Amino acid sequence: MKAAVLYKPNTPLEVVDVEQQGPQAGEARVKVKAAGVCHSDWHIMNGDWTLPLPMVLGHEAAGVVEEVGPGVTAVKPGDHVIFSFRTHCGRCLYCSTGRSILCDGHKSVRWAMLDGTCRLRRDGQDIFQMARIGTFSERVVCPAEMLVPVRAEMPWPQAALLGCCVPTGVGAVTHCAKVEAGSSVLVVGCGGVGLNVVQGARLAGAVTIVACDLLDSKLDFAREFGATHTVNAVHDSVVDRARELTAGRGVDYAFDAIGGEATTLQILDAVRPGGTAVIVGMAAMAVRAPVAPYLMALQEKTLKGTMYGSVRPNLDFPRLVDLYLDGRLKIDQLVSRTYRLEEINDGFAALRSGSVARGVVVFD
Ligand SMILES: [Zn+2]
Ligand SMILES: [Zn+2]
Repeated sequence: MKAAVLYKPNTPLEVVDVEQQGPQAGEARVKVKAAGVCHSDWHIMNGDWTLPLPMVLGHEAAGVVEEVGPGVTAVKPGDHVIFSFRTHCGRCLYCSTGRSILCDGHKSVRWAMLDGTCRLRRDGQDIFQMARIGTFSERVVCPAEMLVPVRAEMPWPQAALLGCCVPTGVGAVTHCAKVEAGSSVLVVGCGGVGLNVVQGARLAGAVTIVACDLLDSKLDFAREFGATHTVNAVHDSVVDRARELTAGRGVDYAFDAIGGEATTLQILDAVRPGGTAVIVGMAAMAVRAPVAPYLMALQEKTLKGTMYGSVRPNLDFPRLVDLYLDGRLKIDQLVSRTYRLEEINDGFAALRSGSVARGVVVFD
């Protein structure tokens, strides 16, 4: 069975044959049909996030359940599923209060199975799975609680994107910020996540949607996804434009879909007094951003973080599927390029160049 393994930071992924142990109690084996190429994978490849290696990367995917281990009742062979990259124990404080993205009911490391052991080996060495799934792989054995069954008519590449960038972006608007109809919204960064913040804002009924990026090609995508105004931050000040478009006040909501010091400070500056700035994109672990506590208090601004769009995968993935199949969510336009698993490193080159909305690895 082939999988794309990262052995060392700053080296290409190696597509190699690996041995896979079948599903144990509480686990399932999924034949992967499509897997998106995301910046979070790139953060591990380039050493921004230091995780133990070797590891199969990939965390945005969909496939068909082939086999389940003892005790699994929530999914069965033949089910079409989207992978959630967070566990859902169903018992912890967070699962009990509807915030399963923060589930802390399992104590084992996040790159192995719930019992702490690995299902992949090569040359006698254990291979970890990113987020316990590692979906750049022909087949994945993972905890069954991380699989969300969806309608079989959902096409595969589009289903895969419902595993990360779509819920992260749309959920940031609808679940974390809870944007009201009529609001003004700024989105910094128009990659896979940022474009979904833009379309989340459109779905929520925002009337002013300002999208910002450094590349005009991405701003073209943003207009297609519902941006009413665009700012190229190479030539223009994002904060000045956000204020100009809101009678000098600042936007009601601003989202950082990149993650970094400069962009965190930008979204805080761009929101009006009483407004909400939301960090959506994942920065490198070492990044810090100096906020001004005086202004935070004086202007009653809120700075929030959201993981995975604060969605509830079991509830929200099927809803997003319904919205897509009903023609109200643009996902086809996100799938701008597809690759074979062997071409995975081309997918990362394209991700870094900004030439694609989203690249997706497709499997037979
Ligand atoms: Zn991702
Ligand atoms: Zn839990």
